[in-house]
Amino acid sequence: MSDEAPRKDLLQEPVAPELFVLRDKKGPILYAPLGRLMARANEPAISAALAYARDHTAYDAMSADEQTVVRAFNERGFFASRALPQHERTFRPTQVTLFPTNNCNLRCTYCYAFGGEGGGNGEPLTTMSLQCAQRAVDLIAKNARERRDEGDGTRNFLVSIHGNGEPFCAYDLIQEIVWYAQDVAEELGIPAVFNAATNGVLTEEQLDFVVANFNSVNVSFDGLPAFQDENRPTAGGKGSFAATDRTMRRLGEAGVGFGIRTTVTAAMVDSMPAIVEFVAQHYPGLEQLHFEPVWECGRCKTSSNVMPDSATFVKRYLESLAVAQEHKLRLVFSGARQDILSDTFCKVSSGSFTVTPTGDLTACYEVSYASDPRSKRFFFGRFDPERNEFVFDDAKLEALSTLNVHNIRYCDDCFCRWHCAGDCAAKVLDGIELEEHHGSVRCEISRALTLNQIQRKLDWKPQAEGSTQDGE
Ligand code: SF4
Ligand code: SF4
Ligand code: SF4
Repeated sequence: MSDEAPRKDLLQEPVAPELFVLRDKKGPILYAPLGRLMARANEPAISAALAYARDHTAYDAMSADEQTVVRAFNERGFFASRALPQHERTFRPTQVTLFPTNNCNLRCTYCYAFGGEGGGNGEPLTTMSLQCAQRAVDLIAKNARERRDEGDGTRNFLVSIHGNGEPFCAYDLIQEIVWYAQDVAEELGIPAVFNAATNGVLTEEQLDFVVANFNSVNVSFDGLPAFQDENRPTAGGKGSFAATDRTMRRLGEAGVGFGIRTTVTAAMVDSMPAIVEFVAQHYPGLEQLHFEPVWECGRCKTSSNVMPDSATFVKRYLESLAVAQEHKLRLVFSGARQDILSDTFCKVSSGSFTVTPTGDLTACYEVSYASDPRSKRFFFGRFDPERNEFVFDDAKLEALSTLNVHNIRYCDDCFCRWHCAGDCAAKVLDGIELEEHHGSVRCEISRALTLNQIQRKLDWKPQAEGSTQDGE
């Protein structure tokens, strides 16, 4: 670019405040998250870019070399002003997550929800009413149809089966829900999409039903037979590997897209690469492996499971990534998502439409009992069987909407601010207010793995045909 380029090209935009200098063994990296722009440069070039970003008038006093550098960064958009991410403010869901039951056929040693044991607070085992589930389907299907007709890009409605227990313990209800949603889809002329999160301990009949009706499935599985049997025993105290293994083989053979979520404890962390190797070899249909360090809550507090050390988790994750790349398997950790720009970690701020077995509406999967003190923040309405409709608490929805990274001062200086977006509210805001948000041990993992995503993009080189560059 020539030195004669008109100065107003440089000065017409306000400086983007979102400019970071990251460092690794190769030197500094200039990173503009909102544009997802990144560049390696030497120290003088970085200094010139920062001086200009802080004060445009500094340009005049710069040397010719510095001005050239500044113009080069400017041409690539590093100083451009960009709109900050904003989550959807209007509560008009086109997807619902139904928790059909809090009963469970397993007793996982770290279960956040005390599955099968009423949340640990003596709550009764409950199955959702069909009436409640049907009205939830009606609501999202109607919204989806209207939104599609308005041209906002909506193409279907999504019924997600999840639970604070194993949802397929309420198999009869799930069948009714799916059949009903299929009828509504036909009536309204908009497709229904189904996904499920399950522990994979299913009967043959349930498996047949899943294969025939579900678009995608997430199976909670601890990666190696011994860990699975130890951490995820049946309610009768037996191992669950054989049943979960059968489910994943069947899903793969049937071509149902499925992912595995593996909860990593300190005892498992060194085996993460071996887990990748195992699942890649045994389940060829697997689309994604999700590693998440255990969070010490729920039943975990009563067991010997502890969270792995963050540095070790990062180290083993990066080793796992190399194994995943060999197998062309997508590997994820929830806090590292450089490809996403958002002001919220999950849908908690836009009133995620999640219905508990008792018909309560919660914005958070992990807060599903009225007896949980966190329900004061996350519950925002309930199903009223008399009125045959959901009743929403607008003030609660408004309060939930404030749970976003715009309002978290602790994250202001973090380069992951618009990717991680303040992390999981249930974990970091356990009983505290937003202004007290001070991150968690997860920040170290999120930052290290996000930096690694940036490094891999920067240092990407075309590979020989048949190999992949990136496991993510
Ligand atoms: S399968 Fe899920 S709900 Fe059941 S005990 Fe395990 S983690 Fe909890
Ligand atoms: S706040 Fe955390 S636990 Fe709750 S739904 Fe969001 S990610 Fe899940
Ligand atoms: S400070 Fe922590 S919680 Fe906040 S954005 Fe960064 S990594 Fe996420």
